[in-house]
Amino acid sequence: MSVRVGALALQGDFDAHLRVMAELGAQTSAIRKPEQLRQIDALVIPGGESTTLIKLMDAYDFWEPLREFTTRGRVFGTCAGLILVASEVINPAQRSLGLLDVTVERNSYGRQRESFESAGQFIDRNSDESKTREIPMVFIRAPRIQRLGEGVRALATHGEDTVMARSDHVLVATFHPELSHDPFVHQYFLSMVDEPL
Ligand code: GLN
Repeated sequence: MSVRVGALALQGDFDAHLRVMAELGAQTSAIRKPEQLRQIDALVIPGGESTTLIKLMDAYDFWEPLREFTTRGRVFGTCAGLILVASEVINPAQRSLGLLDVTVERNSYGRQRESFESAGQFIDRNSDESKTREIPMVFIRAPRIQRLGEGVRALATHGEDTVMARSDHVLVATFHPELSHDPFVHQYFLSMVDEPL
C-alpha cells in the first residue's frame, strides 16, 4: 500500500509538496482540519510565514493534535515548518510545537541574501557506506539552525550550516526542496515511514 502523506494546508507552499509526493507514488491529501491527521502516516509542514501559521493553528485548534500525531506519524518541517516544530525559536522568540530539540533563528540570512539558490551536501553518517550527495537548495528568508539537541542528527550542510536534520520521527530543512527539481529529500522523508519506530 502506498504511504499516506498529508501537507498542512493552512498557508504556504503545501501544493508543491503534495505534487512531488504524488509523483513519488504517495497517496496525498491537503490537511485543513485536525481530524484529517488520523488518515495519514506522514505530514509535511510547509514553508510560509510562521507567525501567520501560528494564528491559523490557534484558530483551527491544531496544536495538541499535531503533538499527538508525532507519537505515531512522521513529520517533515521545511523553513517556516521547521520554525514551528523546533523546541526554541529566536529572533524573535515565539511559540512552537517543540517536536525536535533544536534552536532556530528566524530570517537569519538578513536582507542582502533574503532569497537565493545554491547547493549543499547530504551526508548520512548513519547509513552503511556513509552516503554523500549534492542537493540543490532554495533558501527564502530562511532560518538557521543554531543548536542541535541530543539525539538530533545533522543530515545536510550548506557551508558551515546544518540545513537538514532529523530525530526518529521528525525531519527538518531550512530550505525549500519542493522548489527544486530533485525529489531526493521527499524520497528520504518517505523512506523514514518504513523505518521501525
Ligand atoms: N521567514 C519566514 C518565517 O520566519 C519563513 C520563510 C519561509 O518559510 N520560506 O516564518
